Amino acid sequence: MTLADLRNFAQLHPGFAALTAGAFGACVGSFLNVCIHRLPKGVSIVTPGSHCACGQPIPFWYNIPLFGWLTLRGRAKCCGASISVRYPLVELTTALLFVAAWSFLPPAKAAVACVYLPLLVVLAGCDLDDMMVPDAPNFALVGTGLIAAMLVPSIHGETGHTIEAVNRFRALMDALLGVAAGTALVWWIRTIGTVLAGREAMGEADIILCAGVGAYCGWQGAVFCLFGGSVVGVITALPGLIQAKLKGEEYEGVVPFVPSMAVAGAVWFFRGPELVTLWQNWAAS
Ligand SMILES: [Zn+2]
Repeated sequence: MTLADLRNFAQLHPGFAALTAGAFGACVGSFLNVCIHRLPKGVSIVTPGSHCACGQPIPFWYNIPLFGWLTLRGRAKCCGASISVRYPLVELTTALLFVAAWSFLPPAKAAVACVYLPLLVVLAGCDLDDMMVPDAPNFALVGTGLIAAMLVPSIHGETGHTIEAVNRFRALMDALLGVAAGTALVWWIRTIGTVLAGREAMGEADIILCAGVGAYCGWQGAVFCLFGGSVVGVITALPGLIQAKLKGEEYEGVVPFVPSMAVAGAVWFFRGPELVTLWQNWAAS
């Protein structure tokens, strides 16, 4: 069976192909859970194997993505400790992202999405879980973004030149410009925000994340990551803000900036060029 046969099979059975992408995504999500749990604590993501908080090893059948948590009804078999709903949620999110990537993106870009989207999920998950964003996946986002640009120049729309090396070089320039734009933008917003608010407005993690999205999506993607992410962040914080306002209290919560930027970065990867057209049409009308 060749790659072309596989592609034909997938085209004949789109449902089966999407289901396979989803199952693959759920398994990746299961690994991402390990990363989200261990990376902020500086623990190896390879050894030891899966184990419960009480120290008991977890048999592999309870580690089957989604089904493991569902059969256990969110409680550990060994000691009855509750297992965070974050586990099935991360698996489900990753599964759906992989189905979407397979269904809506060209094959080469979908393959890139299999690296890009999981890294975003890890960064968002670490921030939500621990309020701490580890450097490793963040720098990995920037590094893999630059490599992806050279391997798959079409993710930056660079397919115009007949000489493939020229396309690769142009895509790398687009990615580097994205990194520069992301870094500079967040750095300026952070500096101005810190001066105005009198306290640290954004973290270093936000700078690296925006640079990473720029590496994958170009400078427009970096801009959208920051401003689109702010919109997402404000919308998610709005219920709490209104509630505090009604009670006449000071708002205590924080805007989940890293997850919001990750959402914006993912949206742009899927539909960036269409958003540009939408914007141009709106501005021209
Ligand atoms: Zn246990």
